[in-house]
Amino acid sequence: MIAIVIIPMNGTSQTWSTQVQNLLEEMTLKEKVGQMTQLSVDMICVGEPYNVVMPAAVDEEKLRKAVLEYGVGSILNTPSGDYVDVDRWQGIIGNIQEEAKKTRLRIPVLYGLDHIHGVSYIKGGTLFPQPLGLACTWNVDLAHEVGVITAYESRAAGVPWSFSPAMDISRNPEWPRFWESFGEDVLMNKEMGLAMVTGMQGNDPENKEKIAACLKHFTGYGLPLSGKDRTPAWIPERYLREYFLPQYQASIDAGALTIMVNSGEINGVPTHADKQLLTDILRGEMGFEGLLVTDWQDIHYLHDRHMIAASLKDAVRLAIEAGIDMSMTPVSYDFADLLVQLVEEKTISESRIDLSVGRILTVKEKLGLFTRSHFPKSDYAKFGSDEFESVSLQAATESLVLLKNSNDVLPINKQSKVLVIGPTSHSMSSLNGGWTTTWQGDRADSDLAQYNTIVEGIRNLVAADQVDFFADIDYQSLDGLALAKTKAAEVDYVILCIGEHSYTEDSGNLNDLNLPPHQLSLAQAMMESGKPIILIYTGGRPRIISQIEPNSTAIVGAFYPGPNGGDAIAQLIYGEMCPSGKLAFTYPQYANSLTTYDHKHTEDRDVMISGQSYNPQYAFGYGLSYTSFIYSNLEIHDRVYQKDGTIEASVTVRNTGQRIGKEVVQVYISDLLASITPPVRRLRAFEKIQLAPGEAKNVTFAIPIRDLAFVGIDNQWTVESGEFRLQIGTETAVLKVVD
Ligand code: BGC
Repeated sequence: MIAIVIIPMNGTSQTWSTQVQNLLEEMTLKEKVGQMTQLSVDMICVGEPYNVVMPAAVDEEKLRKAVLEYGVGSILNTPSGDYVDVDRWQGIIGNIQEEAKKTRLRIPVLYGLDHIHGVSYIKGGTLFPQPLGLACTWNVDLAHEVGVITAYESRAAGVPWSFSPAMDISRNPEWPRFWESFGEDVLMNKEMGLAMVTGMQGNDPENKEKIAACLKHFTGYGLPLSGKDRTPAWIPERYLREYFLPQYQASIDAGALTIMVNSGEINGVPTHADKQLLTDILRGEMGFEGLLVTDWQDIHYLHDRHMIAASLKDAVRLAIEAGIDMSMTPVSYDFADLLVQLVEEKTISESRIDLSVGRILTVKEKLGLFTRSHFPKSDYAKFGSDEFESVSLQAATESLVLLKNSNDVLPINKQSKVLVIGPTSHSMSSLNGGWTTTWQGDRADSDLAQYNTIVEGIRNLVAADQVDFFADIDYQSLDGLALAKTKAAEVDYVILCIGEHSYTEDSGNLNDLNLPPHQLSLAQAMMESGKPIILIYTGGRPRIISQIEPNSTAIVGAFYPGPNGGDAIAQLIYGEMCPSGKLAFTYPQYANSLTTYDHKHTEDRDVMISGQSYNPQYAFGYGLSYTSFIYSNLEIHDRVYQKDGTIEASVTVRNTGQRIGKEVVQVYISDLLASITPPVRRLRAFEKIQLAPGEAKNVTFAIPIRDLAFVGIDNQWTVESGEFRLQIGTETAVLKVVD
């Protein structure tokens, strides 16, 4: 079946392949609306929604209702937290697809899971750092590889759709979903997201090793004013266009098949009802032709949470008029029933329904589901393989950020005696975060017991009598603190493991970004021992460590490095690897100074130090190494550019240390004068390179002048003529853009 070219016309019409067109002509209204309905798998399992009988099994009667009677287009999720292996997934999804074959038009069901750091919900599959950790690698090739492996392992279980990657730039570190995307910067989210999308989808998503990506959550989700999940964002249109669209545009241009809508509200308009954003901008301007799915129950929320729809029926109308194609309903049939009524009453036209159904069927067609919905397990011999695991370890290793290393205390030698202590020292949840075997990631300790926690990783590297592990102190209790202090006095180093447990969405809401008092007391007690403290911070966002930073000799940041994080941290401590991670966000020093690296000059004033808002603990892009790099010879082929020109810059980077190491070469450009207050600097390009001791490399960048554009007061992209400063490492140059 050859799909013919689809031409979007302001999001109001598209053309389809012959197969899709024929189906649309044959389908009844009920069948069409069924396709637009997405149910939770709980709705077809034995038991009740959110309380399925374990191990989950399909209830034939419920399956018949969902697939035969309602003709649902999609099913999602893992049953009530069940951690399902490939065989059982194939059984569950096989059952669903067999039922679909009994329907009049034999339309396959599109199954989707949240595989945000590898296959979160497929037992035995490979897990990687969470997106924030992956971003701290600054290694775009690794992100691509993560996409490739996630797709392969997902398809092995018969799941052709993943609700990832998230591209919500995380501008507020209080936000509990901070770790689900690639940090605070637009370019980072654009590059990493694109790499993951192309890894997942490849050139041909019909390939049995590829899946459909789902960009989420469109858009503006990452800047809730309160810092709490799904609370109001206030984002002026020009800022929205400059910071919240470009990362989506890059992946749309690369053929991303699906997008999920932001569950929050912007400027008082819940995004699920925002026609300007979902149709005029996303379809009309950005040219998105794929499937737009709601987030969990979000049409209901227009009625009973956001209070903008008088009834559920009106909520359905608003969301359809705004432009959604599929409703993640997901635990009732109301959406389908009400949408049929709305069309029968002529409130919604059938041609509007056809538009969404055409898009849904097109995604199924592109995934090859009409030809074959799943393949035998034997076709996926590399599932859960050592080859994939080694990519996970590499990603974990590169994600770690060495934040402080006074007197080069790290790496320590294996003859040193260490005390390992703290709530995150023996915790898989603290290494993995949410969407890890369960939604909340709260069963990682048992489900991922085959991997090593930090203390286990350390114990595997050094002789048993060199490691004292104090297990009594956890998140709740400081029992035995006095004893812990005496133990600290007996060792050479204290490895103090603090930070966060796992959480997802609302459960991660915070009232205070400071570390909990309990952890500060533990740190204080360890510092009183006078022994050098090696602080290992693990978590999904930067909790404030300024009180304990001065007395920490070394600090390592591990932002949900994944199941191999324990081994990677141990390797870093003992020098078996050379750290190369850099922060993909600004690590704040104070809970009331949460400013991003691309702040304005007014936030940078040092006239009143205590009132300055940009005073981070560690800057965006920062991270130490066990070797050293020197930058020289910045060369720019021209100093004066027309607006359609391209800057070609090169710089020499030399490894002047004793170890082979990786360096992230970062290019920042500052617009020195602009009609809208310019940010102090913006990241405009980066590349990660590896250098042997003494080796030098010439790194070149081509940056089109149009990439220096900003969105002006008229909401249009513009490059203003004038001077720009370019900075790579310690090298700088000033350029001129002319009309
Ligand atoms: C989350 C989405 C997720 C969806 C399906 C929602 O609660 O906001 O990110 O994809 O659930 O699990």
